[in-house]
Amino acid sequence: MNAEVERRFPDLHPALGVRAAVVESNRCLNCFDAPCTAACPTHIDVPGFIKKIASGNLRGSATQILEANVLAASCSRVCPVEVLCEGACVMHGRQEKAIAIGQLQRFAMESFYAKGGTIPTRGASERPEKIACIGAGPASLACAAELKLQGFQVTVIERRSLPGGLNTYGVAEYKLRTADSLREIEMIRELGVEFRTAEIGDEASLLTLEKEFDRVFLGVGLGAMHRLEIPGGDHPGVVDALEFIAAYKLGEPLLGVASVVVIGAGNTAIDAAVAAVRLGAADVKILYRRDAASISAFDFEFEHARQEGVDFLWWTLPRMVETSDDGELRSLTCVRTELNDAGQLVALEESEFAVQCDLVIPAIGQSPLVEFLSSIRGLQVERGRVLIDRATGQTSNPKYFAGGDCVNGGREVVDAVADGKRAALGIVTSFATNTFDSSASGTAVSHG
Ligand code: SF4
Repeated sequence: MNAEVERRFPDLHPALGVRAAVVESNRCLNCFDAPCTAACPTHIDVPGFIKKIASGNLRGSATQILEANVLAASCSRVCPVEVLCEGACVMHGRQEKAIAIGQLQRFAMESFYAKGGTIPTRGASERPEKIACIGAGPASLACAAELKLQGFQVTVIERRSLPGGLNTYGVAEYKLRTADSLREIEMIRELGVEFRTAEIGDEASLLTLEKEFDRVFLGVGLGAMHRLEIPGGDHPGVVDALEFIAAYKLGEPLLGVASVVVIGAGNTAIDAAVAAVRLGAADVKILYRRDAASISAFDFEFEHARQEGVDFLWWTLPRMVETSDDGELRSLTCVRTELNDAGQLVALEESEFAVQCDLVIPAIGQSPLVEFLSSIRGLQVERGRVLIDRATGQTSNPKYFAGGDCVNGGREVVDAVADGKRAALGIVTSFATNTFDSSASGTAVSHG
């Protein structure tokens, strides 16, 4: 990694040392029917792994975590634990600080990998069936690992040069470094999962795939970010948030930008705005069309951005990107917004004002891969989301299973991991019960 980026993006939460981890693990009450485990989408046995840390059995702790979640190292860094396991911890009811579950999980996983630990195999016999997982994000990786552990021949197919999806390209570096994402994926490769770089984008490539593989898992995520559809929205100084984050993580970071406007108020907008501060911008604003109560970013992310010095402009809508005579991006013309009597958001005419900036970063959501999904025969898609059987992950084309963002519209890494594993078990069952019908007629499906 670029040394300059490494210097500017130290860990947001430094790792626990051995003593601190043991002290923290001894605070856990080992609850029966632990609510923290129920709140984890992958249902990690939280009291179980914490107890092992307390007794010094770090290897046992890590392997127990891996049984539930093969991407446990990255999840320990990127999970919004405040609203999942730690949010459910009974300590809140005792007016005490929740157990630092994320930090303890990270401690167990990093100790394990630092000692050369690998994902434990289960001694399953090799099976002849071949499975393709399209996309190399968390859902596909979890699906692939589970199937490989059960003996199947698994190939992960990805169009980008590196696997990992948003874990590799799109998570703020102070939460998860690209190198750590890739190290974790290497463990899955070492299980015997094959990784192939190829674009699966049209009917012809899908037909070839269907001939080669017995089942296909769709872990394709979402498509490109929505474009800023205003005059000047295609100026080179308008760079979408995912492109901006990927550039500083893996390419050339945009240094020397003095003032930045980020449009949108989700977690990706926060990541981009904080990154702009860390990259040296003196003036970083997040601009949002409603108020603070309406943002989709988590409260702790919002607080973090404020602490890093990001300003927020509420009730504001961008209207036009303004450039200087020599074509340089100069400012963003905006208007004020409000809710009318019917509760609809409206722009206030004659409320125009300019926000000076050198760079505009839209973070206004990703579009679904509608064209690609519609090229899959018999696949039911609703509002851009693949419909699946909730219990098995099977789609309306029984050869295909799906999970992750292309099903849920964009949730957490841990949700994608849970989806991928569920689909893997669904695939295994489909061979056992032969719930496969090449006619691709519709089955009962619902959103995941
Ligand atoms: S809820 Fe809190 S105290 Fe109870 S088992 Fe989970 S982490 Fe430990």
